[in-house]
Amino acid sequence: MSTDGTGRCLVCYAETKNRCSRCGEAGIDLFFCSPEHQKLVWPGHRFFCGPNAFPLCFPFLSDEELELIIKNLHTRYLKVGGQTSTLYESLNEEGRLSIQDVKSMLRNELHRPQVDGARCVDEQYYLVSLRIPCESDSLSTSTRLLNRFASTAQYLTRAEAVPEDLTSCSPAEAELLHRTFAFVSLVLQARDLLEGQAYLDGISVSSATVTCYKGLFTYTIDRFPPHRAASISAAFRQRYPEMEFFSSAPA
Ligand SMILES: [Zn+2]
Ligand SMILES: [Zn+2]
Repeated sequence: MSTDGTGRCLVCYAETKNRCSRCGEAGIDLFFCSPEHQKLVWPGHRFFCGPNAFPLCFPFLSDEELELIIKNLHTRYLKVGGQTSTLYESLNEEGRLSIQDVKSMLRNELHRPQVDGARCVDEQYYLVSLRIPCESDSLSTSTRLLNRFASTAQYLTRAEAVPEDLTSCSPAEAELLHRTFAFVSLVLQARDLLEGQAYLDGISVSSATVTCYKGLFTYTIDRFPPHRAASISAAFRQRYPEMEFFSSAPA
């Protein structure tokens, strides 16, 4: 946040006075230099724009996500920390819930048709951790985006870039996540639209992806102390090794 009403675009890091008004109402200043750049990352930003922007909240599960999670409750997957687990085990850490209890919790407490996020810390924890293992190209763009956002957020949590309870992020940490989600949204779009060839409104998605990634590093250096900036940058390099070439010496 700045005092003179200017900030840096979430996509290209250019200085601008154009704030996202819905996020502003929620209490965080996020900037887009142009309607084109705002539109470019809207597929991802829409989940966190407005009431979910600050405190930052993941939305409840959609119908598709609910179905997917119930289908995969017993599938073993690799967690960010390197251990393996099933979704049922993650939801039933204290060993007190039957499979029917877990299904009813998923259906009645973690699933809502609207995009508003849960404010409760436990629900937020579940909404992030349940989304990790469900990556598949046959899923809708929304589901794939939310899976990616969740797994990237977990990398940042492990690097102590953001708190485990995302709703307790400071404005600078929340902005880091908003910038991260803008970048992840571009990564997925660039891949879906045939790499290197895709243009939206005359903007090359793959070059916007690189610009956004560099902006993310510059933001990290501008807003966090050096030791923290270094561990945040390391987490990005680990999660997105294909971007390694672009991650040194931001301009
Ligand atoms: Zn821009
Ligand atoms: Zn917004």
